[in-house]
Amino acid sequence: MASLAAHDVAPSKIVCVGRNYRAHAAELGNEVPAEPLLFFKPPSSLLRSGEGIVIPPQSERVEFEGEIAVLIGGRLRHASESEARAAISHVLPLNDVTARDLQRTDGQWTRAKGFDTFCPIGVPVPVGEVDLDSLEVVTTVNGEERQRGRVEQMAFSIPFVLSYASAIMTLEPGDLITTGTPEGVGPLQPGDRVRIEIPGVGAVENPVVGAGSG
Ligand code: ZN
Repeated sequence: MASLAAHDVAPSKIVCVGRNYRAHAAELGNEVPAEPLLFFKPPSSLLRSGEGIVIPPQSERVEFEGEIAVLIGGRLRHASESEARAAISHVLPLNDVTARDLQRTDGQWTRAKGFDTFCPIGVPVPVGEVDLDSLEVVTTVNGEERQRGRVEQMAFSIPFVLSYASAIMTLEPGDLITTGTPEGVGPLQPGDRVRIEIPGVGAVENPVVGAGSG
């Protein structure tokens, strides 16, 4: 499969999973749900490596969430886990930037997760070049490690999440699915540099800027 640049990623939707790692659910005072907890980020939130994450004036607590994301290469509707797995075309690192204070006050997560610049992504790597079962994600802020998680720690596997989502909504070629964040989430301040790396796949690294400098 062909390589893609991050600017070639143009999903019809970005499907996300909340609370997919037990330790992260616990650090925010939540349980892992009985079924995957899905939400969307808007495609307008996408950001390339090197571009600035803008802290919006509406929030006083913007946090990083390092995640393993995949692109879908075919249409999935009511797909089995094996069909879903076969439809994954690329793997990429993703930062599910979140206004934690607004997530708490709003209940619905659309505003907290949906600001422009809140979805930095790395360059997608063809799935044939990686081992889907041994992926790891590492987050550093200003060079200091803050998160490290592995796919086998997920409550719901990537194929299960895709199969589950495809029973709700048709997943189109090019759609982007991100699979939740491990423990260690924390705040970002203007001047920080946040890097999400999937070893063997790649990284996305962004400076953080205040609303006035965007
Ligand atoms: Zn997330």
